[in-house]
Amino acid sequence: MSLALVKNSAFDDIRRRIADAGALIFDVDGTLAETEEIHREAFNEAFVATAIDWHWGRRIYKELLRVAGGKERIRAFDQMRRSGPPLSDAVIARVHRVKTERFAALMADKGCPLRPGVRAVLDAARSREQRLAIATTTTRGNIDALLAPVLGEQWETMFAAVVAADDVARKKPAPDVYLEVLSQLDLPAASCIAIEDSGNGLMAATRAGVPVLITRSLYFHDDSFDGALAVLDDLTEIAS
Ligand SMILES: [Mg+2]
Repeated sequence: MSLALVKNSAFDDIRRRIADAGALIFDVDGTLAETEEIHREAFNEAFVATAIDWHWGRRIYKELLRVAGGKERIRAFDQMRRSGPPLSDAVIARVHRVKTERFAALMADKGCPLRPGVRAVLDAARSREQRLAIATTTTRGNIDALLAPVLGEQWETMFAAVVAADDVARKKPAPDVYLEVLSQLDLPAASCIAIEDSGNGLMAATRAGVPVLITRSLYFHDDSFDGALAVLDDLTEIAS
């Protein structure tokens, strides 16, 4: 059998598993859209606005993305630089608040398209009356800033469960967001499929018992994805 045929039949199996799943559970950043560069820009604008003499380039941001959560990321960088007194919780919270405002403004200004194939997979699921959910470590405000322009103000009605960073105690790679989604959907983990772009996301879903489909993204394309159902470049490969 040719490599193309092997690849196609593997994708047929993935398409079938997606169509049969009790629910499709999506990560947001890097999976629904390539938002990380906009997050990075918003952090850099927040540092300027709060008179903090930092600038995060792509290389350092890639390292910082190992840390889930904006406030946690600011603190991790503060600890890495080891000069001057550490930033207080209040300062970190203020920088993060400004960053969140800048992110929303940048999204409203420029927008960020859904990744290729995402819309087709969402539409196909809805036409099958299959449930959709979101499990993310970004904030609700950030999800709204991303999805309202591309899916409409009523985007939340498309999803049977939306669980964000604010809703659980521990962020990915802890399984909390997935466990909360599963409890809201009242479905067994193994009957669902998670769609993720990072090793952290893969670990979070796997720890909750949810099988994972990976779509490689800008920042996490070289993560280790051992244990994933499949690793795709984007969802056009399985959109039918
Ligand atoms: Mg992600």
